[in-house]
Amino acid sequence: MRIFVTGGAGYIGSICVEELLNAGHEVTVFDNLSKGHRDAVDPRAKFVNGDLADAEGTRQALRAAAPDAVMPFAASSLVPESMVYPSKYFQNNVANGINLLDAMVDCGVKRIVFSSSCALFGAPDRVPMTEELPVKPLSPYGQSKAMFEQMLRWYDQIHGIQYVNLRYFNAAGASQRFGEDHRPETHLIPNVLAVALGKKDQVEIYGTDYMTPDGTCVRDYIHILDLASAHILALQSRQSVSYNLGSGDGYTVKQVVEACRRVTGLPIPAIERPRRPGDPPKLVASSKKIASELGWKPKFPKLTDIVASAWAWHRAHPDGYRE
Ligand code: UDP
Repeated sequence: MRIFVTGGAGYIGSICVEELLNAGHEVTVFDNLSKGHRDAVDPRAKFVNGDLADAEGTRQALRAAAPDAVMPFAASSLVPESMVYPSKYFQNNVANGINLLDAMVDCGVKRIVFSSSCALFGAPDRVPMTEELPVKPLSPYGQSKAMFEQMLRWYDQIHGIQYVNLRYFNAAGASQRFGEDHRPETHLIPNVLAVALGKKDQVEIYGTDYMTPDGTCVRDYIHILDLASAHILALQSRQSVSYNLGSGDGYTVKQVVEACRRVTGLPIPAIERPRRPGDPPKLVASSKKIASELGWKPKFPKLTDIVASAWAWHRAHPDGYRE
């Protein structure tokens, strides 16, 4: 298939592009390089430097690519930042997303695999989290993902655009070639590994008074290659549907730090800090639905394998991508 990928120079986008190409698909990457890196774009993909805020440019690029499906990874994705700058999240993730959807309508592109997030559930009252849980986001980031999903329902009903919403839990790890390079980095695993690399003195643990086994937040870390394989399977879906996507195991922040110590063999000092605004205490996926309907099965569910792949990439690229 021909796939139009926005944000294909970013962390998740770049590795999904690599895996789409490995699976024999043709890919056009559309990215404004505001956060992504040119070197993260697989050379087998066609690259268009463009911005979703530019409705006409987006439409032209989509028309030229004439794709069978769109995969939008371009979005702002930091819960804490969204708690300070909500406008950025509604602008980038909702308003610019409307430009993409309208370009799809104009160009007759009928399928989308959407990068959604478990953040739209807020703080669920039970885990593992199934798709039926109420949508109650705790941050503008989660709200922006919920709004885009709601829009997709109407674009399906009115314009016949078939969607698959993939609600990611915590994407982590690397492929052999591409990895995580956010500036600034806010995510847990790369921040812990930055300490291991000697780039930071200590890792900060945000919040130790949650109602969890050791008081720190529980998250479900999914290997980026397993996340990519779900996108490829989603292309086969012929119905509009939402899937939760995680490995199904929850780890506390302290357990993640411990796993990083084991994988790297380094002490990795940690310091306890207050809670970070917008963080739900416990997010663990039930991925039963995507497993039974699309046959998705994680190849790398073990946290130490996920951390080991990230560690290999960061050691090979201690300063990330070239600017
Ligand atoms: N976290 C932390 N120290 C860090 C980065 C993150 O303690 O340097 C915590 C964060 O508060 C959350 C968990 O690790 O409880 C996962 O955060 P991350 O930003 O990686 O992903 P999120 O769950 O926010 O998407």
